[in-house]
Amino acid sequence: MSNNVQNICDFLDQFAPLVTAESWDNVGLLLGDSACEIDSILTCLTLTPDVAAEAIERKAGLIVTHHPILFQAVQKITTATPEGRMLLDLAANHVAVYSPHTAFDSAIKGINQQWSEQLNLQNIQPLRPFSENEVSDISPGSGRCGDLPESVSLSRLMLTVKQTCKIKQLQFVGESDSTINKVAVACGAAAEFMHEATLLNCDVLITGEARFHACLEARTKQIALILVGHYASERFACEQLATILQAEFPELTTSASQIESDPIQFG
Ligand SMILES: [Zn+2]
Repeated sequence: MSNNVQNICDFLDQFAPLVTAESWDNVGLLLGDSACEIDSILTCLTLTPDVAAEAIERKAGLIVTHHPILFQAVQKITTATPEGRMLLDLAANHVAVYSPHTAFDSAIKGINQQWSEQLNLQNIQPLRPFSENEVSDISPGSGRCGDLPESVSLSRLMLTVKQTCKIKQLQFVGESDSTINKVAVACGAAAEFMHEATLLNCDVLITGEARFHACLEARTKQIALILVGHYASERFACEQLATILQAEFPELTTSASQIESDPIQFG
């Protein structure tokens, strides 16, 4: 059975319905010919020129990148910029690009749900529910929160978070010995959910990264913050998405980018 780009797009739209993406987002098939037959898919967190080169070398016909390309309006696509060169290389090699982004964050089996389950949260609910008449039947909303099976100290929770995110270091705001019962999670740069997390009586918000002023706000509001890094908060889901696509399309070769890595290092 052959597959074209559209078959994969249809599955992805079922898995993470694009209609649930945030209004400011840029999701779906962003580059390429939906009728193109493909043999291979590459998933990644962010489509950078080195990941594009990897896709071309592996003869991937489709890249599923969590973060969108062409996010801002573009007036020229030329070799004068690294992005233009990358897009031209991808087009010349018939590589299509699809991004599920915030639809994947919010999906029923999406990143925030997966993260909540890894932390063994109970009574999981969205931080920001979608309104009834909108799309609440295909995703409950964005962000997640839930109760820990038993209360732990913030420092104990941070150990668990390091293990589940496979990171050696993280940043936090709060008192290490404070008691944590209810946890909010929001992948990426999502301190904006602090408001909802506070209203829902969460003791901590776990996210990828936050600005300094958001950290000050957390301290004032007496909600703890755990910052695992943007990459760690989302890359695991891109690896899992490759496994899901491989199972759904066994005749295709699907893998997560091997070359992609966190640009942030600890000194
Ligand atoms: Zn992100």
